[in-house]
Amino acid sequence: MPRYEFRCRTCGDTFEVSRPMARSSDPAACPAGHDDTVKLLSAVAVGGAAASGPAPSGGGGGGGGGCCGGGCCG
Ligand SMILES: [Zn+2]
Repeated sequence: MPRYEFRCRTCGDTFEVSRPMARSSDPAACPAGHDDTVKLLSAVAVGGAAASGPAPSGGGGGGGGGCCGGGCCG
């Protein structure tokens, strides 16, 4: 039986529910009993794809984030 991941918008918790595919779109209450949940895309991005993607422009900075206050951004 496939498992589907949900996230509760009330408490922010994520949880998995095992259910038949025919009922994959049914609402699910979070373990804390909240009904305001959303179904997440399952089986992908479980870890965290922080390894790839565009690098921050500039480089050598990143200390405090005060760049835009000093006029170097425009
Ligand atoms: Zn909740």
